[in-house]
Amino acid sequence: MKRYLVVEESVCPECEGDGVVLDPCWREYLELGDPHRDPDGFAREECGLEEMPPEEIECPTCGGTGVIRREVPLEEALAALEGEVRHG
Ligand SMILES: [Zn+2]
Repeated sequence: MKRYLVVEESVCPECEGDGVVLDPCWREYLELGDPHRDPDGFAREECGLEEMPPEEIECPTCGGTGVIRREVPLEEALAALEGEVRHG
Protein backbone atom coordinates (compact mmCIF):
# COMPACT_ATOMS: atom_id res chain seq x y z
CA MET A 1 0.00 0.00 0.00
CA LYS A 2 1.43 3.30 -1.08
CA ARG A 3 0.23 6.78 -0.43
CA TYR A 4 0.79 9.55 -2.90
CA LEU A 5 1.02 13.10 -1.67
CA VAL A 6 1.00 16.27 -3.69
CA VAL A 7 1.93 19.76 -2.58
CA GLU A 8 -0.93 22.19 -2.41
CA GLU A 9 -0.02 25.83 -2.76
CA SER A 10 -2.43 28.55 -1.73
CA VAL A 11 -2.15 32.27 -1.14
CA CYS A 12 -1.48 33.01 2.51
CA PRO A 13 -4.72 34.22 4.13
CA GLU A 14 -2.80 36.20 6.75
CA CYS A 15 -0.83 38.52 4.43
CA GLU A 16 -2.80 37.82 1.21
CA GLY A 17 0.40 36.95 -0.59
CA ASP A 18 2.41 40.01 0.43
CA GLY A 19 4.73 38.08 2.73
CA VAL A 20 4.62 40.88 5.26
CA VAL A 21 2.10 41.97 7.85
CA LEU A 22 1.71 45.07 9.97
CA ASP A 23 3.66 44.86 13.22
CA PRO A 24 1.22 44.15 16.12
CA CYS A 25 2.36 47.25 18.01
CA TRP A 26 1.90 49.40 14.91
CA ARG A 27 -1.55 47.92 14.41
CA GLU A 28 -2.53 48.96 17.92
CA TYR A 29 -1.09 52.41 17.39
CA LEU A 30 -2.93 52.92 14.12
CA GLU A 31 -6.18 51.55 15.53
CA LEU A 32 -5.90 54.03 18.35
CA GLY A 33 -5.86 56.71 15.67
CA ASP A 34 -4.16 59.40 17.75
CA PRO A 35 -1.67 61.11 15.41
CA HIS A 36 -0.42 63.39 18.18
CA ARG A 37 0.89 60.55 20.25
CA ASP A 38 4.60 59.90 19.83
CA PRO A 39 5.02 56.43 18.24
CA ASP A 40 8.15 55.62 20.26
CA GLY A 41 6.42 56.68 23.48
CA PHE A 42 3.49 54.45 22.56
CA ALA A 43 5.85 51.53 21.91
CA ARG A 44 7.49 52.00 25.31
CA GLU A 45 4.29 52.42 27.28
CA GLU A 46 1.93 50.05 25.50
CA CYS A 47 4.15 47.42 23.91
CA GLY A 48 7.11 47.28 26.27
CA LEU A 49 9.57 48.05 23.47
CA GLU A 50 12.50 50.46 23.38
CA GLU A 51 11.17 52.18 20.27
CA MET A 52 8.73 51.61 17.46
CA PRO A 53 9.76 48.56 15.42
CA PRO A 54 9.66 48.52 11.61
CA GLU A 55 6.08 48.95 10.43
CA GLU A 56 6.01 45.70 8.53
CA ILE A 57 7.27 42.34 9.75
CA GLU A 58 7.76 39.06 7.97
CA CYS A 59 4.47 37.20 7.98
CA PRO A 60 4.71 34.51 10.68
CA THR A 61 2.11 32.33 8.98
CA CYS A 62 3.94 31.83 5.68
CA GLY A 63 7.45 32.85 6.72
CA GLY A 64 7.49 35.73 4.24
CA THR A 65 6.82 33.65 1.14
CA GLY A 66 3.19 34.72 0.71
CA VAL A 67 2.33 31.12 -0.05
CA ILE A 68 1.12 28.30 2.16
CA ARG A 69 2.33 24.87 1.16
CA ARG A 70 0.95 21.68 2.56
CA GLU A 71 1.04 18.09 1.54
CA VAL A 72 -2.32 16.57 0.73
CA PRO A 73 -3.25 13.07 -0.40
CA LEU A 74 -3.54 12.80 -4.18
CA GLU A 75 -7.17 11.68 -3.88
CA GLU A 76 -8.05 14.79 -1.94
CA ALA A 77 -6.30 17.02 -4.49
CA LEU A 78 -8.13 15.35 -7.38
CA ALA A 79 -11.47 15.68 -5.60
CA ALA A 80 -10.79 19.36 -4.99
CA LEU A 81 -9.85 19.88 -8.65
CA GLU A 82 -12.96 18.11 -9.79
CA GLY A 83 -15.05 20.34 -7.53
CA GLU A 84 -13.40 23.43 -9.00
CA VAL A 85 -14.16 22.31 -12.55
CA ARG A 86 -17.76 21.60 -11.69
CA HIS A 87 -18.37 24.83 -9.86
CA GLY A 88 -16.24 26.99 -12.10
ZN1 LIG B 1 1.68 35.23 4.96
